[in-house]
Amino acid sequence: MKKITFLIIFLHGIIYCQYAEINYLKVNGENISLENVLQKYIQVPSVSGNEKVAGDYIKSVCRENGLIITEFGNKNGMYNFAASIFPLSANKPNIIFLNHIDVVHENNDSKFEAYSGKIINGEVYGRGAIDNKGAAIMQLFSIVKYLNSPNSKNSKHNITFLSVSCEESQCDGGVKYVIDNYLDQLNPVVVIGEGPSELTSLIEGEFKHPIFGISLAHKRAFWLNLELSINTSGHGSITPLEYANKEMVTALNKLVKKKNKTIFNELNTSFLKTLGTHKKGFEKMILKNPKLFKPILVPQLRKQPELFALFSNTITLTNIYTDNHSYNKIPTKIGAYLDCRLLPLTNELDFLNEIKKRLKNDSIKITVVENMPKTKPSITNNIYYKNLSKAIEEKYPTSKVMPIMLPNINDLGAFRAKGIPAYASIPVYLSRDQVEGIHNKNESISISSIYDGAEVYFDFLIKIENDK
Ligand SMILES: [Zn+2]
Repeated sequence: MKKITFLIIFLHGIIYCQYAEINYLKVNGENISLENVLQKYIQVPSVSGNEKVAGDYIKSVCRENGLIITEFGNKNGMYNFAASIFPLSANKPNIIFLNHIDVVHENNDSKFEAYSGKIINGEVYGRGAIDNKGAAIMQLFSIVKYLNSPNSKNSKHNITFLSVSCEESQCDGGVKYVIDNYLDQLNPVVVIGEGPSELTSLIEGEFKHPIFGISLAHKRAFWLNLELSINTSGHGSITPLEYANKEMVTALNKLVKKKNKTIFNELNTSFLKTLGTHKKGFEKMILKNPKLFKPILVPQLRKQPELFALFSNTITLTNIYTDNHSYNKIPTKIGAYLDCRLLPLTNELDFLNEIKKRLKNDSIKITVVENMPKTKPSITNNIYYKNLSKAIEEKYPTSKVMPIMLPNINDLGAFRAKGIPAYASIPVYLSRDQVEGIHNKNESISISSIYDGAEVYFDFLIKIENDK
């Protein structure tokens, strides 16, 4: 019995020692656990465009923990900084961990006040708990831990925690401003940023093992404004044969009714093939040979819009407007917004022609409002992708990692557009509820996930340094 007690004390000692040694950050001279650093970060509201106070806080944590700060603007809406293990002037190839300070608006029907940072049953609650303050704390801790490891002194790479503003609202003072003005100074060889967590907890069906996705491509936003003007009589009591609202609605109906084409590319077919390895029999055969079984597969994919988005250029009618507010007046002008999302290598002129063909109305004026640059997916055969996926698979030994594409865009896209490899992953398990809490109510993260994610990122850095 004594022996066992001794063993327990001994083990506890080791665990406690490790804990005391590595699992905290320094804040105002004290050792603060990661969950408490996150809690404090959440407690400083930073809705897009109001990043300064929260930015000042996280920047001071970076500085106190030995990172070297370079500022790229320090006012609301343009608050960005790099916190690095070497000065940027050393010009070493830089591994950048990208995160954003801003959050989306709070939800008033959350369990707890959105900026409470309450910790209950091992979870930290509040706006930004995952997106993106929680993920940022994982990144920051991995870098600080690396800085304090023997590896850092002679590191071939610089390692940078890059915090930016306005990711959620995509204003000009965020990542765009940093890239336009400071890309050379940053000298990035790879950028790691927010992205998918473990996937099988989010997809229906049974899987043999957990799957972590690393996103290396994104769809491009291609936003269109449609306008149609027809001069007609103005009184609603007599219906003209042709009038603006009628013609526009008819054209839009033709546009949205037609099914979008299914497009198979290397990335989305390899996604299906990987899913296939988890299935049996006929289902397995279909998923492993998507092109051959296209007629069977496509109707199934169409039933799941979040999946089908990866296989098509989508067209979503997000607004229809006129300047008319009365029942009996016929407006002469009507407009509509289309939020189209294109697969990475789609030719936008071909796509635009397809839209015109479907509308079948040459009088509709189409203006391109947003056209994100065409970007190649980041490659998988470099030391960065390889070691990130290795670090994940070693942390979660039963899991498999696969490259994926995201239907939405985040700040990583701006680096990818410059030809810099950019990988999106928050390498932790998140439950469906937790993922649904992002941009929604009750956003939360488990304390253990913060440490797990940080461990993967840290291990990734060690592996890179040891990679010959
Ligand atoms: Zn985010």
